[in-house]
Amino acid sequence: MGRALIIGAGGVAGVVIHKCCQNPEIFEEICIASRTKEKCDYFKQKLDGGKTKITTAKVDADNVSELVALIRDYKPDIVINVALPYQDLTIMDACLETKTHYLDTANYEPLDTAKFEYKWQWAYREKFEKAGITAVLGCGFDPGVTGVFSAYAQKHYFDEIHEIDILDANAGDHGYPFATNFNPEINIREVTAKGSYWENGKWVETEPMEIKRVYDFPEIGERDMYLLHHEEIESLALNIKGIKRIRFFMTFSQNYLTHLKCLENVGMTSIEPIEFDGKKIVPLQFLKAVLPDPASLGPRTKGKTNIGCIFRGIKDGKEKTYYVYNVCDHEECYKEVGSQAISYTTGVPAMIGAMMVLCGKWNKPGVYNVEEFDPDPFMDALGKFGLPWKEDFNPKLVD
Ligand code: NDP
Repeated sequence: MGRALIIGAGGVAGVVIHKCCQNPEIFEEICIASRTKEKCDYFKQKLDGGKTKITTAKVDADNVSELVALIRDYKPDIVINVALPYQDLTIMDACLETKTHYLDTANYEPLDTAKFEYKWQWAYREKFEKAGITAVLGCGFDPGVTGVFSAYAQKHYFDEIHEIDILDANAGDHGYPFATNFNPEINIREVTAKGSYWENGKWVETEPMEIKRVYDFPEIGERDMYLLHHEEIESLALNIKGIKRIRFFMTFSQNYLTHLKCLENVGMTSIEPIEFDGKKIVPLQFLKAVLPDPASLGPRTKGKTNIGCIFRGIKDGKEKTYYVYNVCDHEECYKEVGSQAISYTTGVPAMIGAMMVLCGKWNKPGVYNVEEFDPDPFMDALGKFGLPWKEDFNPKLVD
């Protein structure tokens, strides 16, 4: 059916590449392009010989003209951006210039401020509409599947959704004293930032890790979880009509938090450049260099993830609750695609989103968050491509 240009060759990209190759009727050809071409070649070597034709290229995704040249040369039907959030706007610019569909898994973030906001990407709405191309924003798991779950709940189970709690549990154990499951820089920026949630039409800000709850997760058990700011809250607050409150919770072990606090206290998580040996370095980038590469966690991680949404609202005049979630096993993911569940749960939805655009089911000119599309074909594909979901109509609620 089409060809995709995949930008980035890290943990998430690895899963996208495997999943495209498992779906050759849609992805007849893929090009893997990243800053370090050897990483692209590694995947090509591993997966060559199947039905999907794979090529590789070197590209600096901070550079619009390099991207435009690559897109003009390869002529993809869609660009799947699984590099870093810093590259979102340059890649969107290149897609605009070449009139190519775009998809990513994380919203744009400037290098020098840890701010997760859609405003920069939403500013492209009119330009994409005029160019007749689709941009799908935030199509990983959270954001991504959590938005699809919300659209599905809205479409099938509620007249009005009043509250959404997004719960992200990772009960994986990699055996290291401290490591992050995806890009350490992005991960630490996210968890050291202030928390916030949406209530009655406005943001309520909290100190980092100020709000803690304990939840008994299906197939995982009781875990401590903490309220974080998370990017999908911003779009869901606009797109789910009648919503009164949206919160996001993520589980962290005491061990992880103790290490993080210590690193924070000594200044290692700062994104302010400092002078060292006559050179400017960013402490968090240096920390990234000494921490285990998330890709190396795959073979060592045991346990499961559980990510889902609990909805409260009204159907036919009556109060209703609904919990929909996916449970994913780190070891099974590794066996299948050579990555742990965090990359897996992000990469599978990115492939499915691209498939939705290529087969015309999610194809409308403009810039959209996932909950603005029909959730049904995406929900069907989740089960088929390794992320089956479960429902509970009487879940325990978070207070
Ligand atoms: P990695 O750090 O493993 O991979 C990032 C890749 O992008 C690397 O291959 C890197 O190249 C490449 N890259 C970075 N800068 C450039 C550049 N300027 N030009 C070209 N390539 C570049 O990250 P992950 O795979 O863990 O994460 C990928 C994305 O997925 C991130 O945006 C992350 O925020 C998002 N994510 C989303 C989730 C969700 O549920 N929505 C969950 C987890 C992650 P090099 O190898 O040379 O460094």
